[in-house]
Amino acid sequence: MIELAKELEGVRSVAIAGHIRPDGDAIGSCLGLYHYLKKNYPEIEAAVYLEKIPRAYHIIPGVDEVRHEIPQEIDCDLFFCLDCADEFRLGDAGAFRKQAKRTICIDHHISNSGFGDVDYIVPDASSTSELVVRILEEEKIPFEAAEALYMGIVHDTGVFRHSCTSPETMEMAARLMRRGIDGSKIINATYYDKSYYQRLIHGKALMESTLLEDGKVIFSFVRRKEMDFFDVETSDLDGIVETLVGTYGVEVAIFLYETEPDMNKVSMRSKSLVDVSRVAQQFGGGGHVRAAGCNMKGTAYEVLQQLLAPIKSQLEGGEQ
Ligand code: 5GP
Ligand code: MN
Repeated sequence: MIELAKELEGVRSVAIAGHIRPDGDAIGSCLGLYHYLKKNYPEIEAAVYLEKIPRAYHIIPGVDEVRHEIPQEIDCDLFFCLDCADEFRLGDAGAFRKQAKRTICIDHHISNSGFGDVDYIVPDASSTSELVVRILEEEKIPFEAAEALYMGIVHDTGVFRHSCTSPETMEMAARLMRRGIDGSKIINATYYDKSYYQRLIHGKALMESTLLEDGKVIFSFVRRKEMDFFDVETSDLDGIVETLVGTYGVEVAIFLYETEPDMNKVSMRSKSLVDVSRVAQQFGGGGHVRAAGCNMKGTAYEVLQQLLAPIKSQLEGGEQ
């Protein structure tokens, strides 16, 4: 556990960053910590650095204060690296890791081997946002921080549904609810509400999905030109892989979208038999046992064939 007040003694400047293509947990944990520092440590100059924030998260306070450009000259006493399994996943914010006087990593990725001066890595935790709540003093959590952190927990637990949701997750969520937030509004606006075109592309991906391996594996793929046609961004595809894995008899869902010609972002989800973080790590990615991803070159068919081999061997071996 990190003693935050002690870590902040004598600190003048703090930078906070999360992983590239930030998701709900990366955004929520970074903004949650940011609001907490702003409120309780006004003498510290704090800033959050993240890549472009998807539309759905714009109701979270502080999104408009997030910086997208890394300064040329870095003068930073303490760098918080949140929800980021390795230095590469920091993107340009990796500069802080190299130049800050001290780095604290807070993360829940099983593939994170620890690259800070202080590491608080708990693979069993639902989310980095949950870990951030654990290190904060409950009565000092401002409303804005509570909204951001609650959103982070909601997203990484699939609205308290995934197996990573523990009694402690609910206790941390309860602390946040007691700050007076409207949890239902946050869940609907950031997780469930979609535009009509988002609905259409979800429907298309489901319509065109294929069952493989006696119905144990389900696969779908969205091409760049389809995304352009529906005018959707990559974050608008969030949720497709979760719907796919919720199909009767399916153990593993594989969803790809094209990032550039012959390059694909892979998302995998597993119900109970397969450790998809091991599969993703084999191709340079990472994540969690039940949710992992990587980037792979080749046509969708080639990528699928490569992924199926280790998945089949885990399914057949019954190994984890
Ligand atoms: P998603 O499928 O939602 O993009 O990601 C699922 C999980 O896998 C997330 O925890 C995410 O951080 C992790 N993940 C996704 N893509 C990559 C990747 O390319 N590299 C690593 N290390 N982790 C990834
Ligand atoms: Mn996370």
